[in-house]
Amino acid sequence: VDHDQPLFKLLDEVQHHVKNPTKGDGVVYWMRMQDMRINDNTALSLASEHAQKAGLPLLVLFILSPQDYVAHDRSARRVDFTLRNLKSMQESLSPLNIPLCTFLHTPRTTLPERVIALLSQWNATHLFANIEHEVDELRRDIKVCQLAKKGEKVQCAFVHDKCIIPPGVVKTKEGRAYTVFSPFFRAWLPHLEDKPDPLAYRPAPQANNESIRSHDTYGKLFSMPVPEVVEGFELAKDDAEQMRTCWAAGEDIAKEMLRRFLYTKSRSSQMGEVDPLAEGAKEAEKNPAKDSRIGKYNVARDKVNADTTSRLSPYLAAGVISARECIRATVVLYGNKNGKVDASRETGIGRWVQEVAWRDFYTHIVANFPRVSMGRPFLEKFADVKWETNEEHLQAWKDGRTGVPIVDAAMRQANTMGWMHNRVRMVTAMYLVKDLMIDWRLGEKYFMETLIDGDLASNNGGWQWSASTGVDPAPYFRIFNPYTQSQKADPTGEYIRHYVPELSQVRGDGP
Ligand code: FAD
Repeated sequence: VDHDQPLFKLLDEVQHHVKNPTKGDGVVYWMRMQDMRINDNTALSLASEHAQKAGLPLLVLFILSPQDYVAHDRSARRVDFTLRNLKSMQESLSPLNIPLCTFLHTPRTTLPERVIALLSQWNATHLFANIEHEVDELRRDIKVCQLAKKGEKVQCAFVHDKCIIPPGVVKTKEGRAYTVFSPFFRAWLPHLEDKPDPLAYRPAPQANNESIRSHDTYGKLFSMPVPEVVEGFELAKDDAEQMRTCWAAGEDIAKEMLRRFLYTKSRSSQMGEVDPLAEGAKEAEKNPAKDSRIGKYNVARDKVNADTTSRLSPYLAAGVISARECIRATVVLYGNKNGKVDASRETGIGRWVQEVAWRDFYTHIVANFPRVSMGRPFLEKFADVKWETNEEHLQAWKDGRTGVPIVDAAMRQANTMGWMHNRVRMVTAMYLVKDLMIDWRLGEKYFMETLIDGDLASNNGGWQWSASTGVDPAPYFRIFNPYTQSQKADPTGEYIRHYVPELSQVRGDGP
């Protein structure tokens, strides 16, 4: 098996073999866990456009697949967030007369057959979906295309959407994928200018409402409920409440989070368990380019005792907002008259654009080198490292009981809030791998099981960076000192005192 064969290219080949169907009753957009929005959604826009042209009703399909969640170590928080966003989507789609049909399916191995059976039941002509770059998902979609081709009734279109610039577009002179971030970013940046107007990306309301709602097959789909829970992924009551407070669902919330980041100031002591939108309604700063969170991002982003970053990762990971829209809004606000932003590391705006580009970079890596998502280090020379197996140490790390204050505070932030600041993700990851000498894959798994923003590509990229096994990694001999990291990231000790109550009486006024 060639573990470096980019499967998304295979998917491209398979889908083009299906004959163009002419007769049928509907068009289906298959929504997945990574594209839960109506605005700026490539597959949904294409499906809507096609349905309009063909005069056919559009249906949105979502399949809950618990066995996939187990296989991908999905956190119950992420599954709960999915259900909450589904409800929000249903509310937005209903006035457009577009039904959202949610099904639960096991076993995961027969999911392609289930999709084809539904398409056949609905006599659909077309299936549109955004590509998911994980290996299992690509294999599943290839199978769907093959089955569709056999039946010769449905045309499948799997399209790129997750990244701002799709994998395969940004290449070295030799036609290869970049494996170092800086040259990748330089080649990536000029493509930003090709992006069309976001308004072109909204599905149109369904015409002929009455007949769709009274249609024998489709009418009843409008009243299909979104399940409250998925068995095996239930949240404890207080955790569910906490997640709802910290991470409310829906596109409007994600947009408001973006607005808050682009226009408003960071508060110095905002530890996160409070609703991050509480301050969102504040007036925009007089000089947002300098004073807003994004304006100060280059200097303040590493401070963990303040609310300095966008906190958009749960929304970007679930696709509740697109990364394209984040960058477009930034360019509209801060770009020059040619629509360009200063992308240098010296400005807050440029630095943020770079961070968002890391998300593309790591997804391109998973797309081009699938082995990294199959538990392999990118640098194969590190495949045979003998890791420590010390259950007690691993558990102490997970629980935030290592005795190293910044590590414990960060792990407790993850355990209570389902999210962690980037700087302490690196500190805790390095501590597990290079101080406790525990296999990075165990840390990668725990983050996925705990965080609400778990994203295979970014998580794997972050862990392999910290473990020095990945693309463009920290050199293996670079080991963060958690105490000096702590002095820089949390100079007054406020973050530590907040999350580690045992230390709440310890004074620390910083340097
Ligand atoms: P901001 O600083 O406001 O950045 C904006 C967006 O850019 C983020 O929401 C994210 O989508 C993207 N981004 C920023 N930094 C990175 C980065 N280093 N790599 C990839 N994308 C980035 N991010 C996830 O979204 N999901 C994960 O599962 C995840 N696991 C990580 C594990 C480790 C060990 C490390 C070191 C990093 C991980 N990251 C992950 C990246 C990063 O820590 C988070 O994206 C960031 O902390 C989210 O906070 P924010 O939305 O306020 O980010």
